[in-house]
Formats: sequence, structure tokens, C-alpha cells
Amino acid sequence: MSITKEHCAKGKSSTTRVSQHFCQSLGGTCVNVGCIPKKLMHQAALLGQALIDSRKFGWEYSHQVKHNWETMTEAIQNHVGSLNWGYRQALREKAVAYVNSYAEFVEHHKIKATNGKGQETYYTAAKFVIATGERPRYLGIQGDKEYCITSDDLFSLPYCPGATLVVGASYVALECAGFLAGLGLAVTVMVRSVLLRGFDQEMAERVGASLQQLGVRFLRKFVPVEVQQLEKGSPGRLKVVAKSTEGAETVEGVYNTVLLAVGRDSSARNIGLEKIGVRVSEKTGRIPVNDVEQTSVPYVYAVGDILEGRPALTPVAVQAGKLLARRLFGGRLEKCDYVNVPTVVFTPLEYGCCGYSEEKAAQVYQKESLEVYHTLFWPVEWTVACRDNNTCYAKIICNKFDNDRVIGFHILGPNAGEITQGFAAAMKCGLTKQLLDDTIGIHPTCGEVFTTLEVTKSAGLDVAQKGC
Ligand code: NAP
Repeated sequence: MSITKEHCAKGKSSTTRVSQHFCQSLGGTCVNVGCIPKKLMHQAALLGQALIDSRKFGWEYSHQVKHNWETMTEAIQNHVGSLNWGYRQALREKAVAYVNSYAEFVEHHKIKATNGKGQETYYTAAKFVIATGERPRYLGIQGDKEYCITSDDLFSLPYCPGATLVVGASYVALECAGFLAGLGLAVTVMVRSVLLRGFDQEMAERVGASLQQLGVRFLRKFVPVEVQQLEKGSPGRLKVVAKSTEGAETVEGVYNTVLLAVGRDSSARNIGLEKIGVRVSEKTGRIPVNDVEQTSVPYVYAVGDILEGRPALTPVAVQAGKLLARRLFGGRLEKCDYVNVPTVVFTPLEYGCCGYSEEKAAQVYQKESLEVYHTLFWPVEWTVACRDNNTCYAKIICNKFDNDRVIGFHILGPNAGEITQGFAAAMKCGLTKQLLDDTIGIHPTCGEVFTTLEVTKSAGLDVAQKGC
């Protein structure tokens, strides 16, 4: 992530990008240790499933199929490298000076940038944009920093992680658990409380069930208290002691790798914000901003995961940054709209959503005003492959007192990411149940299920699919 410095020289304005951590290449978490390598490992897992399905479609192969972790990571890291290079070129083309240094404010309008050799350079600017993001959190238990890895390590791990314990139960945890299981590894997920906190809990449980079908084991209501190394190696062997969150029970397990996915800490601390009075939330470490991404110090702006109360998603940061630049230097006024931001959990069976969960909708609206339409569905590609006919699920939440407006959209199914993107645009246009009914489906697709939703949850009718 970056701190951007803008300065004017001889009437010509220019922009300097100072990266906060010289250990991470251009593109931040998403490109280097997040969305991009994650989506490619997700694809590797999907190809494994496709191989299994392919036999039903007549493909015959006699040689043993196995996955090579090193080949995959090398190819993915090469792609990430090409993106880094591309960003560098793009900055050059736009005459943006790139400074690979650690930045911190030293006084108003002035930062110190320290490069990898310890050389310090000072920059002054009229305006600053902070986009320093977040870093994976550790647990603070015995053995975690010594023996556990985080998502920052996984995508470039030089060896196959083997039997893996994933600690945590949100996006990062379930996505990593999903692709590791899809690659054929034994995966256990240790869940402190619920799956996918903040998401629709019915959908979260369905995501969990789809992972269980893949062989992922869940250890619910446990937290690790100690990690011991039993054997060194690549991977080695680790013993994890965990205790119940509901009683005195403890369990022990042996794994090759322990992946911590227990959330991320904001990188707002240690960049000298206190020296210039930028307010940082005591509780979250994130930076509160107003509706034009301005911090408590008017010449300092912030975008991205570091913002308090905004979705920590790359496209949100990109949109907010683009609009901020236009407002600051392009004479435009448009503000970033943080409502109805679509998102997808890239578990092998993807979960896409936009708008409210059932729980949140029930808090915001009167229960009587809500109608939920839902169905299980069976993708046509899954029929011949004889995959489960009651795993994929679609649901919309409508506000009856507002023309049956769709206020929540949820899908668990193949390519949910691609599907959700289009429906998110429709929700921006004020999608209603009637508009969905008036839309002609594309047959046979998964997305068409939303044009034929008939059963309401309140009716309590069976939505199970028959067949196979
Ligand atoms: P997160 O959403 O903050 O979730 C942290 C998880 O770790 C929760 O399940 C939490 O359980 C658990 N946890 C926290 N402390 C724990 C402890 N001491 N012991 C055991 N479990 C513990 O973090 P994240 O999954 O790392 O995601 C970070 C951000 O990245 C998210 O805001 C998301 O927007 C973004 N992201 C997006 C995508 C995507 O767009 N596909 C993918 C990955 C990440 P509790 O529920 O009990 O608190």
C-alpha cells in the first residue's frame, strides 16, 4: 500500500508514491498476497474437481493424477511478478515517481521516507493520501510467530503445506481451507464462534456444509492456546493444543502446517499520524473519514482497508481512490457510494452476495416488511457429473413496503462471483422482484434461477431438487 505525496514544482503538479513497506511489491495485499494468488489457487482447486467430473463426461486417463504445489506457486508468483512490473511501468508512463521506502509523518506536511538501506529522505506536500492497508494478525500464544504461517506466507510457500490447520472462520480462512482441500490436502478449520461473521448466517452454514462435502473438518468453538514443534521440515510437524470456548475441554492435534487467518491489523500505527493529529480509532486502529475520505486533518485523506467502517475490499479502495483523485484534481464532485457493495467468498463453491443479510435486514426493517424468496438448484453441469443436487442455493430478500425492492441478494453456486457482479449493477438500478420476474433467463445457467424464484420462506414449502 502507499502513501502518496503530491507537490508542485514550477507550476507543474506531480505525484510521488511512497510505499510503506519495502518488503511488499507494488499492488499491495490484493496483488501480492491476497485476491490474485488466492483466485489462482482457487482455480487450481476447481481444475482438480473438473478432472474428477471429466470421467463422467467420457474423458479417460490412466496415469495417476497428482498436484505439484511447487509448479503452481512458481507459475502464480511469475504472474504476480508480471503484475508488479506492469504497475511500475504504468506509474512511469504517468510520470509518477515511485519511492520504495517506509514512510512516516514527522511534522505537518512532511514525511520521512527510509529505504531498505536505511537512507532517509524527507518529502513535503500540500495533500497526502494514506492507503497503508492491513497486515495479518498473530494470536499472541506460545509458538505462533515461530511456527505458524499467515496468508502473507501461503501463496509463496516453497513446499506443499501438507495436513493443515486453519485458525479462523472468515473470508481468508474459508477460502484458503477451500483451495487447500481442493488440492487434496487434509484440512481442519478451527472456528472460535461462527462461520463468516457479519454474513448471512444461513448462507455461512451452507458454505461450511459445502466445504465439509469436500472433506474439510471443522473444530467448532475452540481456540488454539499453544503450538509446539514436533519435527522440523518442509513441512515439519506441529502439535496444537486448543481449548473450548464453552468449557474446560482441551484437544490436541498434529498438523504439518498451521495457517493463522484470525483477522488483520491496520497499518495506521507507526506512521507518525499522532505527530500531525490524524485521529485513529482506539478500538480498531483504523482511520475515520468523512464522506469525501478526509481524515480529522483536512489535508490528509485515506482510502482502502485502513478506513474505519468501510468494506475492506480492493475494488472499494480503487473506486474511492479514483473518485478522490478526480475530486481533488479533476474538478469533479462524485463521492464513493459504499452502499450495496457486492462481494464473493471464493470457496470452491463460491458464495456471492450484495446488500443485506437476513439478520441485518431484520434489524433495519420491520420483520413484516420482509419477504424472502429462495430455492435450492442443481447446475446442469453437475447433473451428468452426479454432484449433489441440493447444495447450490439462491435467495433474495425483498422489502414488501417498497415495491418488493431487492435489498439482499445471495447465491451459493459455481461462478457466483460472475453472477453476483451483474445483479449488483441491477440492485444499483433499484432492482425489484417484479423486474426479476420480467427478466428472461439464459438457459441453462445458474443465474437464471433468480428469474424464476417463486417459493417464499414464509410459505415454508420444500425447495429440494430431485434427481441423480
Ligand atoms: P476477519 O473478517 O476479521 O475474520 C477473522 C476471523 O478470525 C473470524 O472468523 C474470527 O472469529 C477469527 N478469530 C479472530 N481472533 C481469533 C482468535 N483469537 N482465535 C480464533 N479465531 C479468531 O478477517 P479475514 O478473514 O482475515 O479478512 C480480512 C479482510 O479481508 C475482510 O474484511 C475482508 O473484507 C477482506 N477479504 C476479502 C476477500 C474477498 O473479497 N473475497 C477475501 C479475503 C479477505 P470470530 O467470528 O469469533 O471473531
